[in-house]
Amino acid sequence: MIIPKEPRLSPEQEAELRAVTAEFGITLQTITGDHRTIYAMLGDERQQLMINRLEGLDYIDRVDTIQQPFKLMAKDNALARHRIRINGHAIGQEFTVIAGQCTIDPKNPNFFYETAQAVKEAGADLLRGGVWKPRTSPHSFQGDNRSMEILLEAKARTGLPVVTEAMDAEQVRLALDSGVDIIQVGARNALNYGLLKEIGRQIVGRNTGVLLKRGMHMGQLDEFILAAEYIVAQGNPNVILCPRGTQPTLDGYRNHPDESITVLLKEKTWAPVIVDPSHSVGKAKYVPFACLAAAAYGSDGLIVETHVQPIKGIGDDPKQAITPDVLAQIVRDAKAVHKIHRQYDGHLALAS
Ligand code: PEP
Ligand code: MN
Repeated sequence: MIIPKEPRLSPEQEAELRAVTAEFGITLQTITGDHRTIYAMLGDERQQLMINRLEGLDYIDRVDTIQQPFKLMAKDNALARHRIRINGHAIGQEFTVIAGQCTIDPKNPNFFYETAQAVKEAGADLLRGGVWKPRTSPHSFQGDNRSMEILLEAKARTGLPVVTEAMDAEQVRLALDSGVDIIQVGARNALNYGLLKEIGRQIVGRNTGVLLKRGMHMGQLDEFILAAEYIVAQGNPNVILCPRGTQPTLDGYRNHPDESITVLLKEKTWAPVIVDPSHSVGKAKYVPFACLAAAAYGSDGLIVETHVQPIKGIGDDPKQAITPDVLAQIVRDAKAVHKIHRQYDGHLALAS
């Protein structure tokens, strides 16, 4: 990792930098944060003569060769001050609530329009709506391209930025061309490195964010953080980590709730964490507790499946969507708990 002294290098400085590293068989990947640009080295970055040459350039602060599994995502990386700004909303700074239906029903667009308006009134900052769905069975409803129009219409009516999942390169392209604000990588694709790289490449130079769900079978936290590193390594650091429960180890919840990993992620990485309590517990009646727990663990926000009439919804909505009135209470209370978390965090930091 090469960290310049100034936030941005001039084209001449960058060309010189590339020429020096090229002599040592290294290519540079530019990572453009909103505060500064840094350069990842692809190749053997520990060649001492090269490091000396680079550190001898008067516009270079340092060359970081810390050997840890992830570099760009590390808490001490220069990207730590990067903020994802979607529609003026700084994720990671303000508590962010994403809400809406699991799945848009192309036969009943009005439900989605009503849900969109209701979640806005309940205090949601962004609107979620599944256009394409990863379903366990190939015979289940897989989503529909027509739902993209419904998502965009809801965005236009409410002014809320929108989040939807993409599962292949073509869907990523369609989502970006349509102006989707955050692309979700679902739990089933969290280790699909080809897709992670593809999304990373396609969002370069755009303001789009990526919400990366934790995979159902993911083990160590580093595996999750490294999946995010795949996206960021392509050049855009707009990645958000989303714990959503892992393979269940007990009866009762749909998955094994994992909101508690938020504090651990935050010790290792600068990326904002938005917890998905809906897929974690899998039943509407438990969702409020999981939301408050996530806020207590310091999450930067929530993504909650919400529907004006869950029972008439499709996909996960009948069983796990909450109603907008419940969402309104959660928004109010989770924000209060999030403030309490920050007080404890400050106190504990002083004590340690
Ligand atoms: C969803 O958000 O509706 C979804 C399918 O999520 P996950 O990938 O976490 O199962
Ligand atoms: Mn769902």
